Amino acid sequence: MGASSAIARTRSLYERVRKVVSPVEWALMAADVEAILELKRARNAVILAHNYQAPAIFHCVADLVGDSLALAREARSVEADTIVLAGVHFMAETAKLLNPDKRVLIPDTRAGCSLAESITPEDVRLIRARYPGVPVVTYVNTSAAVKAESDICCTSGNARAVVESLGVERVVMLPDEYLARNIAAETDVDIIAWTGHCEVHELFTAADVAELRASYPGLVVLAHPECSPEVVAAADYSGSTAGIARYVEAQRPGRVVLLTECSMSDNIAALNPGIDFVRPCNLCPHMKRITLPKIRRALETMQHEVTIDPAVAEGARRAVERMLEVR
Ligand code: SF4
Repeated sequence: MGASSAIARTRSLYERVRKVVSPVEWALMAADVEAILELKRARNAVILAHNYQAPAIFHCVADLVGDSLALAREARSVEADTIVLAGVHFMAETAKLLNPDKRVLIPDTRAGCSLAESITPEDVRLIRARYPGVPVVTYVNTSAAVKAESDICCTSGNARAVVESLGVERVVMLPDEYLARNIAAETDVDIIAWTGHCEVHELFTAADVAELRASYPGLVVLAHPECSPEVVAAADYSGSTAGIARYVEAQRPGRVVLLTECSMSDNIAALNPGIDFVRPCNLCPHMKRITLPKIRRALETMQHEVTIDPAVAEGARRAVERMLEVR
């Protein structure tokens, strides 16, 4: 009775995701969706969701959605008391850095990132000692402690602009080797890379692209720049998740594959009927730790709150805010 009532009351929300969520799946989600919407009102909370979140989170309970850059920008202007970050831990830290008076909750503290885990503050200090005077550009996919050791942050959406904004011949770019090499191919700035990889994007290969093209005639291939340079070279376009979404909406390819996290295709497919999405599915295990029941629990218990050591926060905030000034 309760479940069927929730299904009936959330019918209009289900319309947003019915192309990618079956009625049977929705029957298991409806009560959590309804409870989360009520808890958000009661707690004066907003949910910021990354593009890699599952469709029911992305389309039905989130207030603000986007890539890392968009979420960082949006976090600054949140007026609600509480931010629930439906994404991974470094994103919640970034929201806390940019809006320190708000309570920021992460529904599962184990939602990490292979890139963030690939480098420590001590590593950055050693790199600085090896390349004295060379500015350090750090991808936002890092801990606040690593950001605090950096001159400026970047995202996949603004990496080239950030590197070129510094007006120098050489930069260190951490920690994603592939993003650094892909940006190096676009700019005259000499880039020193680290050895971190995204465990999702590194799985795609140029041979996969060739196989996909052979299997699906007319296929348009869009790759995230965390993929290897060989994959990016084999693709028709490379860009951040926001860039990929814009490409699909503007170009409306008949058949497309997104070489990025699997839920991204579902989220764009829900908004773009008539486009055939080919889905080789690589899920991010960290992003998928965030679920509707965990978001509901976070709002019920007001846990888990993200805190940052003030000594670290000052330097990390400076690096993120300097990035946000780059256009
Ligand atoms: S998709 Fe890759 S970069 Fe993004 S959170 Fe997962 S491991 Fe990190």
